[in-house]
Order: sequence, then C-alpha cells, then structure tokens
Amino acid sequence: MSEQSSTEPEEAPSEKITVRNVSKAYESTQALYDISFSVSEGEFCCVVGPSGCGKTTLLRAIAGLDDPDSGSVLVGEEPVTAPGLDRGMVFQEYALFPWRTVRGNVRFGLDRPACECADCEARVRELVDLVGLEEFEDAYPKELSGGMKQRVGIARALAPDPEILLMDEPFGSVDARTRDRLHAELLDIWAQTEQTVVFVTHDIDEAVTLADRVVVMDADPGTVQSTISIDLERPRERTAHEFVDYVARIRDELGSPVDGRY
Ligand code: ADP
Repeated sequence: MSEQSSTEPEEAPSEKITVRNVSKAYESTQALYDISFSVSEGEFCCVVGPSGCGKTTLLRAIAGLDDPDSGSVLVGEEPVTAPGLDRGMVFQEYALFPWRTVRGNVRFGLDRPACECADCEARVRELVDLVGLEEFEDAYPKELSGGMKQRVGIARALAPDPEILLMDEPFGSVDARTRDRLHAELLDIWAQTEQTVVFVTHDIDEAVTLADRVVVMDADPGTVQSTISIDLERPRERTAHEFVDYVARIRDELGSPVDGRY
C-alpha cells in the first residue's frame, strides 16, 4: 500500500453511522445516557434491550426526528440535524395512509410522491414487486394482513433508495411464521441493496437471526452495555448450538426478563 500524503486523511472513515456520547431526557426520565457506538457501511446492526431502555429514542435520533440533548449522530462525516432521504425508517405500527392503496403508500416514499412520470411509476412497480405485493397493488391497508402491511412499510422506506434503513421493531405485531418469512425477505433485500441497517428489537432470537452485530442496551438510564458480533453464516439455524450460545450470552447480559419480556 502506498504511503498517504500529508494532505490526505490518515484513514478513510469506514463508519456509516457514528453515535457519539448521546444523551436525551424527557422531563425526569433519562432515556439515553452517554451512548456511543458506530455502525459500519453495509452492516446489519440490531439493538436489543428491555422495554423503555431508549431503543426508539436512539433510532429517532439517528433518523433526525428528535434532537439529542447532548452528543451527536454522524452519517459518514455529516452531523444529523434533520430527517433525510439517505435514511429510510420503518415503524412498528406500519404508519400507512389508510386512504392510499399499496401503490399510493409506496409512492409516498419517493422523493416526488405526486409525480406520475414513467420513471416514478417504474420505481413504484419495482418496489411493490420486491416485497412480493404485485397482486395487491391496488388494495388498501385495511385489506392487508399485518405482514403485508409491513412489506408496504419496507417498500415505502426503500423508495428513495436510502443508504441507511432504520427499523423500529418492525415485525413485533406479526405472527411467528410470517416473521420468519419476513426475516428471510429482509435479508434478501439487504443483500441486494447493500444498505446499512439498524434494527431495533426486544427479541433476542430475532437479533441473532439477523445481525452482524448486536448492541445490547441497559435501562434507567439507557446505556450501551456491550456489543456482540454474531459470527454465523446465514441463513441461521435457531437450534444450532452456536446460535443458542449467542442467545444465552445476550440473555446473560440483559439479566432477567420482566413478565416474560425484555
Ligand atoms: P424503548 O424503545 O426501548 O422501549 P423508548 O425510547 O420508547 O424506549 O423510551 C425510553 C424512555 O423514555 C421510557 O422511559 C419512555 O417512557 C420515555 N419516553 C419516550 N418518549 C417519551 C416522550 N415523548 N415523553 C416522555 N417520556 C418519553
């Protein structure tokens, strides 16, 4: 490798997202306290932690939907100050427009949602196909199952071709079989798009199924307890002893669940 000249940066930044000393309080609740971690370009990062530990608050700070009280979030080297088309967000409760069809909801994710030019039409069709809803493109959300609604949410978030996909417990409301299918579909999409993904969940199995790396959070105040790399080939077999070992390790980090839930 050639030596770098003194005018070049010493090392090209490989981190796509950097969360640096982020704190955020809501009145008397310290939702996040001095959170620091980074996500590499193209990495699939899951954030797990007990309910109320600040996972959603953290994701919203990365999305630029809420400002931290202190600290900063960088995308590449740019500080996040507002939402942007470089970051697509998928919400837990779908957040679809009930008066828009599948196509209409997906179209809303585009940079120019009112545009009906051939390119935009083709992009909407491509996204509807990508999430396997071609037969339902004219259906309204109330006609769709939970899994289908979340496919629409994913297609809408992917519409502007964001570099980063932020997902807030997206499969929390779907049944176990549908969730397994959605995991496989999401990993296929991720392999095709090479996006950087931050995926929030309280489900340890889900995190170990999906992630390159798991950020384990602790509550009250919300802090990063540890980060664990998941060094397993995909697709992952939940009964494999390495998988079970990772789940046990994360469970150990989290301590005992409350009412059966983390
Ligand atoms: P998680 O996603 O891990 O369940 P949240 O980020 O939703 O956690 O919330 C972290 C803490 O901040 C919780 O105690 C929650 O009650 C509180 N909180 C979140 N949003 C608000 C808000 N808008 N106003 C007041 N408190 C909030």
